[in-house]
Amino acid sequence: MNPIRTTNLLRRRVAHPKRPALLCRTGDNAGMSFPLIRSLPGSAPLVLDSPHSGVAYPADFGHACELAVLRQAEDTHVEKLYDFAPGLDVAWVEALFPRSYIDVNRNTTEVDVTMLEDPWSDAVETSPAALNKVRLGKGLIWRMTDDGLPLYARKLTAAEVRARIDRCWRPYHEAVAQAIAAAHARHGYSIHLNCHSMPSVASTYATDFPGLKHADFVIGDRDGTSADPRLSRHLCDILRGFGYDVAYNHPYKGVELVRRHGNPRENRHSIQVEVNRRLYMDEKTLALAAGFETLRADLRRLVEQLLATDPRKLA
Ligand SMILES: [Zn+2]
Repeated sequence: MNPIRTTNLLRRRVAHPKRPALLCRTGDNAGMSFPLIRSLPGSAPLVLDSPHSGVAYPADFGHACELAVLRQAEDTHVEKLYDFAPGLDVAWVEALFPRSYIDVNRNTTEVDVTMLEDPWSDAVETSPAALNKVRLGKGLIWRMTDDGLPLYARKLTAAEVRARIDRCWRPYHEAVAQAIAAAHARHGYSIHLNCHSMPSVASTYATDFPGLKHADFVIGDRDGTSADPRLSRHLCDILRGFGYDVAYNHPYKGVELVRRHGNPRENRHSIQVEVNRRLYMDEKTLALAAGFETLRADLRRLVEQLLATDPRKLA
């Protein structure tokens, strides 16, 4: 494996320093190669993915707003909260590129064509829900931050958006699909946890509920369509048993990753897990906070209990 080149990265990544990345796509810009995805296989029926914790800002991003502002969009440290997963033989997929560069939790049809300097020839979404996210500046390529600041002072080319899709979006979804397929083939079912974190209070342009104080956890299965709701409720009950305040499908139901990869009728269950950042970090400085170790230990207990759960046998 080539050593990770960090010359143009924000900072050296420290998660899983000794574990090899078995699938490690490389990006190439300005002569730099760096990994875009970390994917670690497992033999358990569980698969975890973290699409928004990446901090490797590519040199060709070309954003106008300050990096500190952009970093507020990250689900910072989520990969550290779940770094026990490979040790439990749970497959792990992680985006190393930032969510603000391209959001893999959107469909490729959710392109905001007003951001482009030339025509976009592929299909674009017309559903009200998708158009609403584009209105909030939160399509596949973000137009503005959660606080309404524009990301770019320029138009993007269709070619650079396509390049982000080909280098980041497609390999990420392929890695998640492969991990779920392997778990399902081995066990006859799969449980995919799509791991995120959320600010303690919803920002103005983050959701349709600005100013909402978030629960400790928000569990989403797109109203029971990406996972069997009995399994989702079981997960909520485990967390409540640990003393957490848990919301279900509000204000986050789950988006493209659980929509695309979950199919409960085939015993492929995909559940979005949003954890409140105030439980583990300082939301302004992004530093880890005192609660981090407790939360990580509880997430490990959650995963261990799910490893002992066969969703086909839930009453
Ligand atoms: Zn997220």
